[in-house]
Amino acid sequence: MKAAHRCRGRTLRMRTCLLSAVALVVPALVAHPVCQVWAEDGAPAHLQSPSVGAPREWLTEAEATGFGRTPRYDQTIAYCRRLADASEWIELQSFGTSPEGRDMAVLVASSDGTFTSTSARTSGKLIVLIQNCIHAGECAGKDASLMLLRDIAITRTRANLLDHVILLVIPIFNLDGHERFSPYSRINQNGPEEMGWRVTSRNLNLNRDYMKADAVEMRAWLKLWNEWRPHLHFDNHATDGGDWQYDLMYSADTHPAAAPQIAKWLRDDLYPHVLPAMDRDGHLTMEYFWLVDSKDPTKGIRSGGFGPRYSTGYVSVRNRPSILVESHMLKPYRTRVIGHYNIMRHSLEFLNQEPHTLRNATAEADLAAAAIGSRYDPDRRLPLAIGRTEEHHPITFKGYEFRRELSEISGDVRILYDNTTPMDFETVWYNGANVERDVTPPLAYIIPAQWTEAIELSQAHGLRCERLTEPLTDEFESYRFVDVSFPSRSYEGRFLPRFGVEPIVERRTYRPGSVIIPLDQPDAKVAVHLFEPEAPDSLASWGFFDAIFEQKEYAEHYVAEELAREMLEADPKLREEFEAKIRTDRDFASSPRARLHFFYKRSPYWDARMNIYPIGRVTKPLRVATEPLGSTH
Ligand SMILES: [Zn+2]
Repeated sequence: MKAAHRCRGRTLRMRTCLLSAVALVVPALVAHPVCQVWAEDGAPAHLQSPSVGAPREWLTEAEATGFGRTPRYDQTIAYCRRLADASEWIELQSFGTSPEGRDMAVLVASSDGTFTSTSARTSGKLIVLIQNCIHAGECAGKDASLMLLRDIAITRTRANLLDHVILLVIPIFNLDGHERFSPYSRINQNGPEEMGWRVTSRNLNLNRDYMKADAVEMRAWLKLWNEWRPHLHFDNHATDGGDWQYDLMYSADTHPAAAPQIAKWLRDDLYPHVLPAMDRDGHLTMEYFWLVDSKDPTKGIRSGGFGPRYSTGYVSVRNRPSILVESHMLKPYRTRVIGHYNIMRHSLEFLNQEPHTLRNATAEADLAAAAIGSRYDPDRRLPLAIGRTEEHHPITFKGYEFRRELSEISGDVRILYDNTTPMDFETVWYNGANVERDVTPPLAYIIPAQWTEAIELSQAHGLRCERLTEPLTDEFESYRFVDVSFPSRSYEGRFLPRFGVEPIVERRTYRPGSVIIPLDQPDAKVAVHLFEPEAPDSLASWGFFDAIFEQKEYAEHYVAEELAREMLEADPKLREEFEAKIRTDRDFASSPRARLHFFYKRSPYWDARMNIYPIGRVTKPLRVATEPLGSTH
């Protein structure tokens, strides 16, 4: 499949579309990608080099091979080490070790010797984290990052990008997945020749792991994030889903759950600078979308936000913008690398021109989040889940000519794109979002000492935690789980329970060692998403509390019989209820087990703690002795 696409790319070579003749007359059309002369590999010729004057010995593996290959882990690290050795602006640091024992490299680029998080904070500069290869086969961001660092620190053609910025670059996040290297990692991807694999060596998708943090790699990432608290995050990917003219798509949380200060900064500050600059470079960018009907692009496209299991959603609940960059995997590898290079370059240009805009937005968003826990307000609501609405508006979609025909293989309609013939057509863009589920946040959550995984995960997320040094007895809000069921298949290594919840208020005693997570902290929203069970990425949703759904004591039939008789004797109302159920519920009537269970469940022997959530919601100020609990690193 890959070879076929490469051949198809080559048919585009030296091709000029009809519009290029018009472009001679109307200069504004020149930059349109479909109007270009095409290079050897099918990339539009004008996109060939955003890196001017790079000496031969500093060419990256991708550049040196005409964007045919991407470097392996060892080659990548060797190039990073050369950058660090040759430039006083770059340090190669390690932020962990992968499960297969590889060093997790991060490059710190700074023009004034600021290479630690402590000095970075006092420097007043913006900290930007660029991560590549979370899906290791989607490697264009890695190759773009190496070029960009070279142009910043070696040739210094882009040295000014560090004037107000400290850059952290993870060349490869999913290291072990990256070394599962093969031409067959990504069906349909148009180069490079070989590439890494989507998931980790333990078969986990890191881009679903941000909240549960099961992967060693994710724990290392969280530690890095907590230490540096970057102002801006880039996550470089490749996408497919259909064929169209757009070579680069982007997405960042601007939906109702995002901090309004951050959403505003993206919409009013960053995008108005970056998007026209991308147009001028000849890219055709578009907000990340997917086809409403994968076999018919005329039915429209849809966009939407991502919850905190994903990088963009997670960084968003930590009050920072995260920009998902998705180059289109059917475009030539050169086009994709250059696309990642340019969107990062233009974003960094803007940060250096107006650093205060992001600094103010993040500071205000942190303050607003920390205010959640300053006073309990029963009318305050925080979104837990964002839904998609049918709200839509017209769009001129830049697609390719296509036809649909009945496939004798699948027995269904198939779509065939002709990517030599651009075609614009009028359709609709669904991009409305609404709050599907929300909650009144408490002042704090309290975790019983024995739920060590939940405590330890709170620390891994960098949450400020306080440990009780004496018992605490009071009334707490919490939940009872109802209608609990389990799926038959695992998802990301876990069996996610389905349940409903009913709010309860009860008197509880939390033992010394139990941990309070106050919400008067900037990362309060992380705690809300972890501990409100109805949040799609809560620990309860990910199965961390499954044991509470299990019945652990049973009444033998011969004992339950005696119990039932005594109860019926003592309570005529119960007898009425029982007899009515026998009359109206056939399944019940025909199940001896259910009939006896009816009495056991109503007796004092029944486990009153089953299905009761152990985490408490604190809604009034507490007076109790605590000590700070250190973070996990
Ligand atoms: Zn991806």
